[in-house]
Amino acid sequence: MGQIVIKCPTTGKEVSTGMGADAASFASNTYSGNSVQCSACGQTHTWNKADARVKD
Ligand SMILES: [Zn+2]
Repeated sequence: MGQIVIKCPTTGKEVSTGMGADAASFASNTYSGNSVQCSACGQTHTWNKADARVKD
């Protein structure tokens, strides 16, 4: 099980979305319109699957 991370548009750092997935479930799921409180900059970011990746 990996962690779904996105790249913070403000700091460029990878931040955890707090959601977990393995590569197969990430590939088969649709993720859209999710929001996350960013641990890097403190703002709330809305992210879609294209913004995200699974980090082991
Ligand atoms: Zn951020």
